[in-house]
Amino acid sequence: MFDAIHLARENIRRLTPYSSARHEFDGSARVFLDANENAFGSPVGTALNRYPDPNQSVLKQKLGLLKNVSKESIFIGNGSDEAIDLLIRIFCEPGKDSVVICPPTYGMYKVAAEINGVDVREVPLVGGFDLNVAGITEAASKIVFICSPNNPTGNLMRHDEIISVARNFAGIVVVDEAYIDFSGESSIVGSIDEYRNLVALQTFSKAWGLAGARVGLAFADEAIISLLNHVKPPYNVGELSQSAVLEALSNTSAVWYSVERILEQRARLTEELNRLKCVETVFPSDANFVLVKVEGPDEIYEFLLNEAIVVRNRSTVIGCEGCLRITVGTPDENRSLIEALKKYEQQTARL
Ligand SMILES: *Cc1c(COP(=O)(O)O)cnc(C)c1O
Repeated sequence: MFDAIHLARENIRRLTPYSSARHEFDGSARVFLDANENAFGSPVGTALNRYPDPNQSVLKQKLGLLKNVSKESIFIGNGSDEAIDLLIRIFCEPGKDSVVICPPTYGMYKVAAEINGVDVREVPLVGGFDLNVAGITEAASKIVFICSPNNPTGNLMRHDEIISVARNFAGIVVVDEAYIDFSGESSIVGSIDEYRNLVALQTFSKAWGLAGARVGLAFADEAIISLLNHVKPPYNVGELSQSAVLEALSNTSAVWYSVERILEQRARLTEELNRLKCVETVFPSDANFVLVKVEGPDEIYEFLLNEAIVVRNRSTVIGCEGCLRITVGTPDENRSLIEALKKYEQQTARL
């Protein structure tokens, strides 16, 4: 049977985690003289003179209800980027172990691996940006990162193929669901009980509209979550961020409303882009961005910059040749983009 502890690095298995004042006492008391805080208060009004809850208990309570998982299956990080880094540090011995990524995909997996001195094996997506399941399961690595919906291609990976990887890959299978709320598909979180090597990553940075708060989530079997909690910095999610997320969790209707509007705009933007001559392909998207193959990506990118519009130039990424990645904006923002592209076409037609 799968054993996460056995897979972890030896030094992590032996680690005695740091125990903060608030780890050792998180009940209610009359007088707190345990954490060297400034008892006279903070200069900014709110109660920021106290350390935040290192266990993020209230937040996990609410999240558990929303996601239908136990508190012990939830890790909360300083963005999901923190979870990516911690997973690599927990399971991969520098200079010895490797991770698998499936390019074209999110850049942080490779960067986090390289920072930690961990080898990266690439098993590129095949066909219409699909997983190469056999290729992944053959690569004997500690972790595979699957992004679904994938950044920058925008498509969901097939659920049965992800499960097939989870069944056949000997290491940890990380499924990054940063964009899942735009997809209309159910999350892989429902499968973490059955597949103990599965980790689902989600974030408050995209659909939830809290990129500035830096809060990300990992859902997995308790054994993996416990490792993450032991290795994370004790106060990794600040008080302001925790309270912002709590507030968002009591106002989910605003989130789902904005997601609906983004989906409407995604359809419109796709339609309008398809009408342009400089656009070759708008790839179907399950996320809040579209990957667009254009004629002259660098010229268009520069032209848009001159119009004070920033998109993401992905044209040098293998598998994304000629492509720009464009985030779905407000109706006004999308209109500005389309106008600018029309202007570009007029100018190049005149040349
Ligand atoms: C944006 C994004 C994230 C979010 O990272 P945070 O650190 O939570 O802001 C994670 N994964 C992918 C694929 C992303 O595109």
